[in-house]
Amino acid sequence: MELRHSEEHEAVSRTLRDFVDREIKPNTLQWEREGEVPRQIFTKLADLGFLGIRLSPEYGGGGQDFWFTAILLQELMRAGSIGVVVAIMAHAEFATKVIERGGSHELKTKYVQAAAEGKLIGALGVSEPEAGTDVAGLQTRAVRDGDEYVINGSKLYISNGTIADYITTAVRTGDAGHRGISIIVVPADTKGLTRSRLQKIGTHSSDTAEIFFDDCRVPAENLVGEENKGFRLIMEGFEGERLVLSVMACSQARLMFEQARQWGHDRKAFGQSILGFQVWQHRLADVLTQIEAAETLTYRAIDEYVKGEPANSIISMAKLFATEMALDTARECAQIQGGLSHMEECLIGRLYRDSLALTIGAGTSETMRNIIAQSNELVA
Ligand SMILES: Cc1cc2nc3c(=O)[nH]c(=O)nc-3n(C[C@H](O)[C@H](O)[C@H](O)COP(=O)(O)OP(=O)(O)OC[C@H]3O[C@@H](n4cnc5c(N)ncnc54)[C@H](O)[C@@H]3O)c2cc1C
Repeated sequence: MELRHSEEHEAVSRTLRDFVDREIKPNTLQWEREGEVPRQIFTKLADLGFLGIRLSPEYGGGGQDFWFTAILLQELMRAGSIGVVVAIMAHAEFATKVIERGGSHELKTKYVQAAAEGKLIGALGVSEPEAGTDVAGLQTRAVRDGDEYVINGSKLYISNGTIADYITTAVRTGDAGHRGISIIVVPADTKGLTRSRLQKIGTHSSDTAEIFFDDCRVPAENLVGEENKGFRLIMEGFEGERLVLSVMACSQARLMFEQARQWGHDRKAFGQSILGFQVWQHRLADVLTQIEAAETLTYRAIDEYVKGEPANSIISMAKLFATEMALDTARECAQIQGGLSHMEECLIGRLYRDSLALTIGAGTSETMRNIIAQSNELVA
């Protein structure tokens, strides 16, 4: 199975490659230092029709399937910055797809369309200080008061948190547990909403925030879907998010492998190339084998997802295998570069620390194993 199936895929890939080479690649180090991706990148991607590539054409999107998102991810990842890709995906995929799937026509016109056009930037607010993996335990509360909801609580580790114009926010509207959760779109300029940027060890160009809601009043029509039915929307959204991280992990690993291979040919020790030592031929042979395996699994998961088949288990396998593989690959590729891998200027070094986020975001590796176990009669 190949990522590109058609001439159209090839054409999208070529256009994106050119865009990434011109607009993203030369700037990634600066954006890493600044801690965010400039807004123009969102609008430029929107102008090319790629920001909302998977969103509905009725609301300004490209109406394409996940194979196109995968091509978008693969080309964006060639710039060598996980942070940049997280920022774009947190907006287009995580924060906005949920509104598209569950929201009213008015909400979609207001937010999905503006998101596809790059006029508004979104963030998805699910995780909280006391509830990460345990989404059903979230405590941020929204209470209906006439035509409004009044929201109190906080969110943690929110990608795009300080740059977003709207936060697709998971809140508790009912009893404890997963049946009491709703999703409300909260405009970032709502009175009582404050946010602060977190200092991370990696993915620096993706801004990550803590967000506080202090008696925030939001119009009741900003509810996405029905009250207390938000948990399912979040879980369905996770499938796309996990595929995004799987493709990112595969692309990152391939990038690191290619750099390591080149380095192994160029760098000399004891009068020969590092790849003159059989130990390194074998280690990189293992790396490449793992990458091929992760890509094959990821593409199969995409295929089942695109066909509309039940794909939760295979997507969890892809996310688990690909993100753990990327971390292992990073360690191997850093080792072959020796001291250079510890320098800020070193792509493999930066990707190494960034890859730590991939086994955590959108569900940890332990969560993926739990899903695989539950889906395959492994729970006694
Ligand atoms: C860079 C980055 C960006 C992020 N962006 C967003 C975002 O945009 N929006 C958002 O809502 N969240 C975001 N997150 C948060 C992310 O989704 C959570 O960190 C993740 O779900 C884990 O939650 P937690 O950190 O609270 O860990 P916890 O849930 O406290 O888990 C701690 C450890 O315990 C393990 N564990 C928990 N439960 C079980 C179990 N049942 N069985 C076995 N092990 C278990 C976990 O696997 C983990 O290893 C982001 C995180 C990072 C690092």
